[in-house]
Amino acid sequence: MSNIIQGEAGSFYSFLSEGCKLCQQGAKMVLFITGLCPKDCFYCPVSEERRIDATYANERKILTDKDVLYEARQMNALGTGITGGEPLLRKKKVLHYIRLLKNNFGPLHHIHMYTSFAPDKETLEELAEAGLDEIRFHPPVDQWNILEDTNYADSIKFAKETGMEAGIEIPSIDGADKVALFADRAACFLNLNELEFSDTNADAMKKLNFKLRDEISNSVAGSEEYAQRISSDCRKIHFCSSSYKDAVQLRKRLIRIAETTARAFDEISEDGTIYYGHIEVPDPDDMKILKYELSEMDIPCDMMEINPDGIDIAWWILEDLKEYVKNPSRKLHIIEKYPFKDGMIVEKIPL
Ligand code: SF4
Repeated sequence: MSNIIQGEAGSFYSFLSEGCKLCQQGAKMVLFITGLCPKDCFYCPVSEERRIDATYANERKILTDKDVLYEARQMNALGTGITGGEPLLRKKKVLHYIRLLKNNFGPLHHIHMYTSFAPDKETLEELAEAGLDEIRFHPPVDQWNILEDTNYADSIKFAKETGMEAGIEIPSIDGADKVALFADRAACFLNLNELEFSDTNADAMKKLNFKLRDEISNSVAGSEEYAQRISSDCRKIHFCSSSYKDAVQLRKRLIRIAETTARAFDEISEDGTIYYGHIEVPDPDDMKILKYELSEMDIPCDMMEINPDGIDIAWWILEDLKEYVKNPSRKLHIIEKYPFKDGMIVEKIPL
């Protein structure tokens, strides 16, 4: 059977689809088409607030096409992963966004899509014609041991006939061994996700006696070991651990965003957050004084930025100047923040 390569954070694989390769670089934008879905998987991770008919690109709610393009540019995305809910409930929207992304970023902007449906030949041809590169089927658990006799077998065959890369993506739980053997016979890839507890699936998972692996993560005990046990049942297999998604994928995406959006004086951390100094000046008259004081100190203009709530400045410059600019009404901090507009502040260190 094929060689298993150990990846970061407990992930491993014998095969990585193009979509996964780009995702591992943090270069895939996540386009969440709709939170609606007719399925009822006990392990569904979709959050309560996302279970609506709304579209998001990463964390950004989409109102116009411009929002999608802005988010992709901000992270310098090399590709997009279309997900939900069930994206094919909004097929027109899926086709529209595939064309929008290909038209704006070119044919090399790689697009993959998840679906719990088993679409027919016509739909798969429409998706491929629009530019979809890779499709990942997510059959329901109750069909895992009869996949050969379901429409998923046809959908995989038709998808491959269109030239798309085809695969199956499911959580790594009991029964996935049957899917691994089926995927091997169907010559498609199999992605196994480490099963995780979430706010929305915890009750159902506890009723089914799933347990947390440890105190620090949301991973389910035994999910990783199960993937290891069945890894030789399929030649093209990839186990993606939950810590990989948090520790590696997100970090790499933040670093990409920071590299695109950071100001000359923002320091990018190895976690993809940015550090900068901030002088909070509530009094507008004092702000005029501060601007004058700073102008006298020959600070390169690209090393600071004047904002309505104060001044952002290189933290190392603020460190040096703090004794000169301090006064009772000004608050001086070094700020660590997610690298986008309104990004979450991780830490605020007073000076
Ligand atoms: S198919 Fe996906 S979105 Fe739908 S219920 Fe299952 S896990 Fe949730």
